[in-house]
Amino acid sequence: MRDNPNASARAMNLADNRRPDQVVGRFAPSPTGRMHAGNIFAALMCWLIVKAQGGRIVLRIEDLDVERSKAPFIDQIQRDFEMLGLTWDEGPYFQSGRDEAYRAAYDALVNRGLVYPCFCTRADLHASSAPHRGEKLVYAGTCRGLSPEGVSARMAERKPSYRLRVPDAVYALTDLVQGPYGQNLERECGDYVIRRSDGLFAYQLAVVVDDEEQGVNCVVRGMDLLCSTPQQMYLQDLLGYGHPQYAHVPLVVGEKDRRLSKRDRDAALDELLAAYKTPEGVIGHVAGITGIAPSADPVSCEELLKAFDINSLATMFPDKVQILWQ
Ligand code: GLU
Repeated sequence: MRDNPNASARAMNLADNRRPDQVVGRFAPSPTGRMHAGNIFAALMCWLIVKAQGGRIVLRIEDLDVERSKAPFIDQIQRDFEMLGLTWDEGPYFQSGRDEAYRAAYDALVNRGLVYPCFCTRADLHASSAPHRGEKLVYAGTCRGLSPEGVSARMAERKPSYRLRVPDAVYALTDLVQGPYGQNLERECGDYVIRRSDGLFAYQLAVVVDDEEQGVNCVVRGMDLLCSTPQQMYLQDLLGYGHPQYAHVPLVVGEKDRRLSKRDRDAALDELLAAYKTPEGVIGHVAGITGIAPSADPVSCEELLKAFDINSLATMFPDKVQILWQ
């Protein structure tokens, strides 16, 4: 964990002074690598959307999957945010320390008979990390109707993961960037894993509990997580939470339909700093190519905020799905 006395002092003060009417957003990085242009763009949009509404930002390190999370990245990501001027007001909070909170929510769902064991292999595959685009499969409900005897017999063979029963119902929202979006949970998603077979709680459950308990009411993130939002709204309803406001911003892609990856060295933050010299140079380039700013000249986050019009979010991006990195 990064020793940042200022951040924790700030965190305590602000957590004590929460105002129910204030907009609260979050940076929720998974510490599995160094920042790149795509993360920077999403974080910048989050910062602008929240700050334009006079809000504050919580930093949450999504290190649920301890094997994939690397301590040096946790430290580095915080320094990168600070350097770029992407300030946060509360946190960092760590998912790895919140097992009890997730367990309480999970137990409440179990007690309502909404959870069942699933013995299908590969069920765990992506359950602890956010399911980025192209990774979502509709679960066929194979283990939904297993008898108690069937469950006992299978238990002897392998540890199950645990799925949440979903209804044949549409969960819909009006996204600040994407507009209206809805999904029939049964037909377009299926029952989904909320606890992995190794006991870890899954991303969908953790993120909903965290957003609620950290007071987050404005979620800004990449477009690839739009299809997770109806699942998260269903959980919010079950647990008696409100729904945040959502803004899903386009993905920055290396080429059409391909997320930025390690191949795109020129999009990695250290390369960006080498190419554009200063944090303002990097922010300016990202703002320029994504259409946040009219030019790619160096600029600070604060300067961008002065010109940022939150009412134009729905028309800000000609392509709302992807923006080509250049
Ligand atoms: N930790 C996730 C990521 O870095 C983001 C999850 C979210 O915003 O809900 O992709």
